[in-house]
Amino acid sequence: MSYNKANISGVLAHSASTQNVLVIEDEIHIQELIKYNLEKNNYKVTIADNGLEGLNEAFTNVPDVILLDIMLPGLDGLEVCKRLRNNKLTKKIPIIMLTAKSEEFDKVLGLELGADDYITKPFSVKELVARVRARLRRVEEDIVVPAKSDIAGSVIKIGEIEIDKEKYEVRKNGDKISLTLKEFELLHILAENRGKVLTRDFLLDKVWGYDYIGETRTVDVHIRHLRQKIGDDEGSSQLIETIRGVGYRLNESLLE
Ligand code: CA
Repeated sequence: MSYNKANISGVLAHSASTQNVLVIEDEIHIQELIKYNLEKNNYKVTIADNGLEGLNEAFTNVPDVILLDIMLPGLDGLEVCKRLRNNKLTKKIPIIMLTAKSEEFDKVLGLELGADDYITKPFSVKELVARVRARLRRVEEDIVVPAKSDIAGSVIKIGEIEIDKEKYEVRKNGDKISLTLKEFELLHILAENRGKVLTRDFLLDKVWGYDYIGETRTVDVHIRHLRQKIGDDEGSSQLIETIRGVGYRLNESLLE
């Protein structure tokens, strides 16, 4: 596929149906800046001036992506993010937080609460459009969820470790390691998404299921057991990396 100039600058829409962006932001000039530039790129934009209005809009007309300011009158962006993640309708919608440079702490908290990305103000319009586009693309392509029924039987090799999807078996230097089903599924989903940071919430959803009532700490405990069993010690060659305040990532550089 070749790209012409129009594609690169984003003048052409990349899909037939218009995608909806909900912008929850109280500053009028930022609202206008975002609206103008996203509409120019063929997105449909809805503006909400505050958190409650944003939540109402998100639950009524579920958007494809949400741009969420942190400093909002009334409910702040972090609380809005939490409520969006706790609602079935909006649980999966990508959220990009808009933060000021002075809100470093909130940024980490935002990611922990389930935001997917953040943009620091002041931002360039080009960057904003690129991030929105990347998020929407990622929803379709990025996360590979292994289906339990898929027993096509591929073995993933990671250094000395082999993950055998067909037999639900993990081997290290050829010796079988005894893992629980959850530990196996955690390792497998990390391996399938190697190099990508998976949040605790995502892992909880995928491995334990949507209806599981539990804390993200459950994920930490299972990761700890998993590391012990596969002998994954802390250090530069650690296979399962902890991304502080966010989640886990399988170290891609160790893969063969
Ligand atoms: Ca604000």
